Amino acid sequence: MTIGIVAATAGGRTAADALAAAWPGQVRLFTDVKAADGLREAWRTCDAIVSFLAVGATVRVLAPLLERKATDPAVVCVDEGMQFAVALLGGHHGANELTHRLAGVLGCTPVVTTASDQANVTPLDSYGADLGFTVHNPDMLPYVGAAVLSGEPVLLEGADDWPLPPLPPNVRPWFDDAGPSVGILVTDGAEIECVCHEDWFGNRLVYRPPSLVVGVGSARGVAADEIDELIGLALDIPGLAAESVRCLATVDRKADEEGILEAARRRGWQVVAYPAEVLARVEVPNPSPVVAAEVGTPSVAEAAALHAARTFGRAAELVTEKTKSANATAAVARLRPRGRLSIVGLGPGARDLLTPRAAETLRRSSVVVGLDQYLDQVRDLLRPGTRVLGSGLGREEERARTAVREAAAGRAVALIGSGDAGVYAMASPALEMLAAEGAAHAVDVDGVPGITAAAAASALLGAPLGHDHAYVSLSDLHTPWEVIERRVHAAAEGDFTVCFYNPRSRARDWQLAEALRILAGHRPPHTPVGLVRNATRPDESVTLTTLADVDPAQADMYTVVLVGSSRSRAMAGRFVTPRGYRWA
Ligand code: SAH
Repeated sequence: MTIGIVAATAGGRTAADALAAAWPGQVRLFTDVKAADGLREAWRTCDAIVSFLAVGATVRVLAPLLERKATDPAVVCVDEGMQFAVALLGGHHGANELTHRLAGVLGCTPVVTTASDQANVTPLDSYGADLGFTVHNPDMLPYVGAAVLSGEPVLLEGADDWPLPPLPPNVRPWFDDAGPSVGILVTDGAEIECVCHEDWFGNRLVYRPPSLVVGVGSARGVAADEIDELIGLALDIPGLAAESVRCLATVDRKADEEGILEAARRRGWQVVAYPAEVLARVEVPNPSPVVAAEVGTPSVAEAAALHAARTFGRAAELVTEKTKSANATAAVARLRPRGRLSIVGLGPGARDLLTPRAAETLRRSSVVVGLDQYLDQVRDLLRPGTRVLGSGLGREEERARTAVREAAAGRAVALIGSGDAGVYAMASPALEMLAAEGAAHAVDVDGVPGITAAAAASALLGAPLGHDHAYVSLSDLHTPWEVIERRVHAAAEGDFTVCFYNPRSRARDWQLAEALRILAGHRPPHTPVGLVRNATRPDESVTLTTLADVDPAQADMYTVVLVGSSRSRAMAGRFVTPRGYRWA
């Protein structure tokens, strides 16, 4: 992605330089030429434009150049005072997002006017785009978009299988007597059939999912026209849309077959090729001993289509068996897509310490699973129509199972945890469950890191983690105390700074005192100890004391306790573990 930056004033140029430094390799500056020329050149050569010219000036230059919103560059205008970043063109094609990125660097306020962002509703023009969906009839977007936003009933069909983002509750897979006036249909079928009463059947916004793979085999020197015609036939037999083909698959010996490559090029498809021994292992309905003798696999077209479809999805079926022309064979497979399990860390509490990626993942998920109290923290971020599945403390296994089953059923699921979801949290039980349920092949897993309590506490205390450190959870719910005790001894002997998670609860009131006693056996009494309670939350408290003076009763379930190594010191009123630099 190349972002062109156009500026005509000293202030604009300074900001342009700041952006170039913040986004290395992504930025092209148009600051030395006449502004209008720079803007035109940026329009021609960049994916997005940040214009430090007035909105009016930008509109006057760009208006004659506008073509199509899907392919035109996104444009954002920023005012001279760096107060506002205005998404001017291509809101859903990068401009809205760019306003937020600009806010991060320049401190300006994003100004976004696309309706679906106001209502926090998944925008239809990018619905499923990250899965490879394309819009078959973009002319319908404004009508269906308006119906979705105004709460009218909209019939949703064919979306069940795909891990799509949520749509509001008025978009649903059934309709009542009143009947919807418009609908959304996800289909790889070429014919859009009339399934409802005639008033509305034409009024459907149709998405093409990338659900098909065309397998092709051929003799040497086959003509592209022959392949092209055969592909057309293979798709026509069951009535499939070429727009839903995600790639052409073949055997690696044919990866340089010009006729095949040219046929793929004409249709804009990628070619994937597999070794004959891989294809030989794929069970197919029409194997051929002649092909086996010649190529080393009894099937090319059927086997390659099936194998590619299985690689991209969780399962595949052949929808067109081998069809032949004089010199080529083709077959078509349809894949069932994998679900998506995002394991998302929400950070320690403060909203601005929840990463933009975590927020985007929550908004992208149609099912969000978590502890009730964490769900409350992020409810305002979720899009209308998101299914929220909460449960209480101690129900970790149930949450892991729910998340895995929903993802294995093909949905986009976010499983949330505070801090980092991989640190004493849901990531490991969820992945253990994924394995136990035998669902690994059916789910793509995506981890979104968060700021863990130790990092949040460290920043508040100073620099306690400046050298080697160890995390120890004092919860003996799942770990016997003897094991925990051994680890505390090891950390003490290894001279690590130690971060205690789960230090103390009403039922576990002596473990922290015991752990501190073990460390005191290896460290001087003035060793710093930091207790941070509710880091970055409204009732945050930070206590810096020493091993000699610490009162374990101050800690609870909402506290992390950091104990220095033998080299840690209180310096400048802060807890510092030196890295060992020698100052001249
Ligand atoms: N996944 C979380 C940790 C979960 S274990 C993370 O990465 O932070 C729960 C323990 O984490 C609590 O008992 C406490 O010791 C610590 N903790 C979590 N959030 C905290 C916060 N905001 N302030 C202080 N300690 C916190």
